[in-house]
Amino acid sequence: MTKENARSVDRTRDGEKEVDLLASVSDISTESEFFSPMPKGYKKGKTRYVFVMGTVMSGLGKGIFSSCLAKLLQDKGLKVAPIKLEGYLNVDSGTLNPFRHGEVFVLDDGMECDMDLGTYERILDQNLTRANFATSGQIFSSVLHKERHGDYLGRDVQMIPHVTGEVKLKLRELAAQTGADVVFVEIGGTVGDLENAYFIEAMRELAYEEGPDSCCFVALTYILEPPTLGEQKSKAAQLGIKQLMQCGIQPDIIACRASSPVSEKAREKISVYSNVPLNRVMSLPDSASIYMIPAMLRDNGLDFEVLRLLKIEDRINLRHERKSWLQWCDFTDKIGAARHKVTIGVTGKYTSVRDSYASIINALEHAGIALGCNAEIKWIDTTAITDRNAADNLGDVDGIIVPGGFGTRGAEGKIACIRYARENNLPYLGLCFGFQMAVIEFARNACGLTQANSTEVEPDCAEPVIDVLPEQKKIEGLGGNMRLGGRDVELKPQTMAWKLFGQAGTVRMRFRHRYEVDPRYIDKLQDAGMVFSGKAPDQPIMQILELASHPFFMGTQAHPCLTSRPLRPQPMFVGLVAAALKKRYPDEDLPDCTRAVREVCRAQ
Ligand code: GLN
Repeated sequence: MTKENARSVDRTRDGEKEVDLLASVSDISTESEFFSPMPKGYKKGKTRYVFVMGTVMSGLGKGIFSSCLAKLLQDKGLKVAPIKLEGYLNVDSGTLNPFRHGEVFVLDDGMECDMDLGTYERILDQNLTRANFATSGQIFSSVLHKERHGDYLGRDVQMIPHVTGEVKLKLRELAAQTGADVVFVEIGGTVGDLENAYFIEAMRELAYEEGPDSCCFVALTYILEPPTLGEQKSKAAQLGIKQLMQCGIQPDIIACRASSPVSEKAREKISVYSNVPLNRVMSLPDSASIYMIPAMLRDNGLDFEVLRLLKIEDRINLRHERKSWLQWCDFTDKIGAARHKVTIGVTGKYTSVRDSYASIINALEHAGIALGCNAEIKWIDTTAITDRNAADNLGDVDGIIVPGGFGTRGAEGKIACIRYARENNLPYLGLCFGFQMAVIEFARNACGLTQANSTEVEPDCAEPVIDVLPEQKKIEGLGGNMRLGGRDVELKPQTMAWKLFGQAGTVRMRFRHRYEVDPRYIDKLQDAGMVFSGKAPDQPIMQILELASHPFFMGTQAHPCLTSRPLRPQPMFVGLVAAALKKRYPDEDLPDCTRAVREVCRAQ
């Protein structure tokens, strides 16, 4: 707080005209204990904040809860902006192993972040940016940078107020940048973790500074139901909430996750214990589909509770809500009403961890729902697959996806799967690494380049059809140095890709790769029949491939799964599932993939 501001508080105490406590706080003083830097253009009172925290355990679905609640307010015409705060010290998620932490989600601006950001983008149908994600690594880097820069004017730099000040700054920057009515703040991990304690303190400070009715605290908790007891136990939840209250935070809403609906008795116990009225202690049992959760929250009246707590009922637009909600219900009505079924084989290194392929699972689900079919996944470990046994592993699938990947393990098995798909008219979709492997397979078996490989898999190979991007050769180190984020892809007229994307000239896709097709091989591959139907404008970077003589054989250097949305399924995934359906039900009069895409991707 500046000297000027400290004086304004004194004047208020003396009964003079009240001056906004925060309005002029923009720099740093050595004379005050207050410290709350404000971003330019921040208007106090315009933006309200909803904080979502977890107790008892992680993995409760805080991101899902928070995005579904945000969606309900967005449907009412409010502008919402989510942000995820992560306790770990990595500056971004790019160097995290998806096996440990779930998939790395890439935003259009190139930020590599937590998979929860994918949930927000899908549920809100909104592109996010690096402003929607912060890690402790970023917060501390920024504080240390400012310290070296002399920004703290000789003060000892402390967790409180400087690090918490940085967190508040980040939240207010998001508010100022987006002009959001409500910023949804999800705090990773659980209350009580050492690494996120300062986030919780920052929330408390922010609520104090912003004043009454500005913030709403939601605690997600878990009600245990040990099979040996056969009844729900709320003690762990109570203790978790107590921990939150010890941090000076009174929750406004408690969402009780559980495997089955939470009993009245358990909710009453929690209500009495936590000073939260019973109607705001809600039961949130497991749901078959996350897309049913908005309705669950709505049935509990949670949307209006939040609006009342934040005193923004007057900002809503009910006509907007009616329209959005109808559209959403049209979508959810189709869930579980499928008439057909297909099995898509997905090859992958992390086959035991579903989180590492979250976007692919989602994109297949969106495509399946749109086409009225259940797109089931068969996970295929490729480490033991060869040309000889590929048929045994793939005989029962209606289509294959070879997803993104790094390194050598299972690469030859993936190539064998791709060969099988190409030679047996099995629908194929290759994503990033799967695109590169398709190029290698084709080079070896259709162009006669038997030594073809990627220098990622075999650094000294004789025919490096896939090699490091020229722009990447100069870069060292492993953090945030790939070709990352949204790029335009120029489509070649009359190709399958061009038709799938509605005959668009260019489309935007998201990338995360270090290797690419070596331009020296492009002519040779094309002469043998490979069609590069998408490329980077002004650069010889091949981004989509297809084979004209095959019912559906497509690969892309991008990650189209990242931009599939429930109400806007991604055309390549719809194309794959439609082709798989035709293969599975040859006697039915089903639309071919281009027509199917036209019907379901255009109707919105
Ligand atoms: N390893 C490959 C590359 O770096 C593919 C990356 C990926 O699939 N995301 O180009």
